[in-house]
Amino acid sequence: MPSDLSQSINPLRLAKSRERIEGSLRLDSFERLKGNLLEESGTLEYSLTFDFDEAGTCVIESLIDCQLMLECQRCLNPVVIEIHKNSLLGIVKDKDGIDNLAKEYEPLQLDEETIFVESLIEDELLLAIPLSPLHAENECSGKTTLDQINADAKPQPFAVLAALKKK
Ligand SMILES: [Zn+2]
Repeated sequence: MPSDLSQSINPLRLAKSRERIEGSLRLDSFERLKGNLLEESGTLEYSLTFDFDEAGTCVIESLIDCQLMLECQRCLNPVVIEIHKNSLLGIVKDKDGIDNLAKEYEPLQLDEETIFVESLIEDELLLAIPLSPLHAENECSGKTTLDQINADAKPQPFAVLAALKKK
């Protein structure tokens, strides 16, 4: 399988020629994601389209597509979550750029000329993962809706863990 792991791209240059790149990445290559996955095999498909809008903002249209096996927060059994995320990223250089960016874009701050495809895609993926993955109600062996409402009021286990790690 071809590996895109170290593929770094220059979005401004790609936008000048309105390029589109696509490919696939192995799920086990996403270091920041791994802790959430019950199953690390599988791949993610992506496409990135580069362009400038009328205001001269460099824009990347990002599409990601994959299936993740996560832990259902109701029954604690594996649940397969389909991820399809379509984003419009507007490239900015600094904080002022973020403030001035058109509302329809998500800011992507670029400190250097190039970025790694993998890290861009991983950011998108992390944003797309549900905080509380759940089976559909009729497919879940967990508790009733009322129990779930009570469970939702409790702190998220991941959040608690993250808070502990910070100390
Ligand atoms: Zn469940």
